[in-house]
Amino acid sequence: MANTNITNGQSDSKDIWERHNKMMVEPLSENDQEVYQIIKNEKKRQTCGLELIASENFASRAVLEALGSCLNNKYSEGYPGQRYYGGTEFVDELERLCQKRALEAYGLDPEKWGVNVQPYSGSPANFAVYTALVEPHGRIMGLDLPDGGHLTHGFMTDKKKISATSIFFESMPYKVHPVTGYIDYDRLEENARLFHPKMIIAGVSCYSRNLDYARMRKIADENGAYLLADMAHISGLVAAGVVPSPFEYCDIVSTTTHKTLRGCRAGVIFYRKGVKSVDPKSGKEIYYNLEGPINQAVFPGLQGGPHNHAIAGIAVALKQTMTPEFKRYQMQVVVNCKALAAALIELGYKIVTGGSDNHLILVDLRTKGTDGGRAEKVLEACSVACNKNTCPGDKSALRPSGVRLGTPALTSRGLMEEDFKKVAMFIHKGIELTLEIQNSMNPKATLKEFKEKLAGDENYQIKVNQIKEEVEKFARMFPMPGLTDI
Ligand SMILES: *Cc1c(COP(=O)(O)O)cnc(C)c1O
Repeated sequence: MANTNITNGQSDSKDIWERHNKMMVEPLSENDQEVYQIIKNEKKRQTCGLELIASENFASRAVLEALGSCLNNKYSEGYPGQRYYGGTEFVDELERLCQKRALEAYGLDPEKWGVNVQPYSGSPANFAVYTALVEPHGRIMGLDLPDGGHLTHGFMTDKKKISATSIFFESMPYKVHPVTGYIDYDRLEENARLFHPKMIIAGVSCYSRNLDYARMRKIADENGAYLLADMAHISGLVAAGVVPSPFEYCDIVSTTTHKTLRGCRAGVIFYRKGVKSVDPKSGKEIYYNLEGPINQAVFPGLQGGPHNHAIAGIAVALKQTMTPEFKRYQMQVVVNCKALAAALIELGYKIVTGGSDNHLILVDLRTKGTDGGRAEKVLEACSVACNKNTCPGDKSALRPSGVRLGTPALTSRGLMEEDFKKVAMFIHKGIELTLEIQNSMNPKATLKEFKEKLAGDENYQIKVNQIKEEVEKFARMFPMPGLTDI
């Protein structure tokens, strides 16, 4: 090996430390052109396009500043006051502040509710809840993924256990009614009696209606099961009081913090504590035993050091949720969603359940003669971002019939009802073009062949570009939250 003198500091070429020190303080734009350019391109995509992915939002500048701070550097395994590292006085203060704000944001009494703000994201948060409270191969019931549930609610197919939550726990899903699109609570009740779940999960990723938490509480009680609300999608709406809160009925509430809540990417778990009930015979108080198991499952069970920069980002976002501005924003998210649904219905589209109580709709494209995969691709090419999704009654998850559309991100940019009528028109144009392309092809053509046609046909590229130009001109009129440059 060549003698590189790395063990002998005195032989370092003179300016290597100067260059090193420069490397450590120069801006990204100078330090790493490649990554900088990718981020710039993504920023442009976000600014020029119409963001309708229901799980996305634009975090505020303050949230992103907290996320990009020196807190990234700090290790602090453990919890405030009981850490495995020194130098934690400020991150202790930060985590306590974040916990306090989390309880305040949802109007929770600290005597009755506790909170863990360390989960790295929504999926690890849910896995921690099961690890804490359901024994290995214990039983859980969540809304099936094709019906609007989340992977982490125990998703598996006939052929394969997909989510680790179905590998390490036994999962039996509940479903929506194939015709109405509403959750079939009667079937859930019936099946819970047979399956005896340890935990029932009330949470959705693609469901446009309010959940009946009271009904689910009854079903859980009848079976001695825990009720977990996973409010990931709606936590911002809940904080603003524009949809019903799950806290009254649930034992545990988990959430992500980057969807409607509009913070950084992270997860949070709320759990009940204190007196659960009083034994009628002995008069003795029975206590919840959730705090210890949940905290232990998060750390040291599943995670190492908390992401303190993320905890700061959550804290900043939570402070914002308690303002009248945030409440006004969330009201507008819901109003905009209704306006989008109404405009699409007027254009002849079918919306699953006929409308929405929250921030998203599921458009069933079967009546139009196309499907979600094709529409998503054409819309993407037109700078409209959304995602394909299965619709109630879909025979195959491989060809989802619908697209999911959400209003949180664009409402953060200030779009109002009238603007969403225009958004509906752009979507309509994209779907009309989808049909035109599809009808020019063999009806049995695959999605891959469809995409090739879309990308390879000059005539269609011209049509795509016309819509795209209109979309981008419209989108650029609205201000972009966050950092100005990247
Ligand atoms: C998004 C989501 C999650 C998972 O969050 P990640 O941060 O992506 O891991 C969990 N549950 C529900 C209902 C969600 O919508």
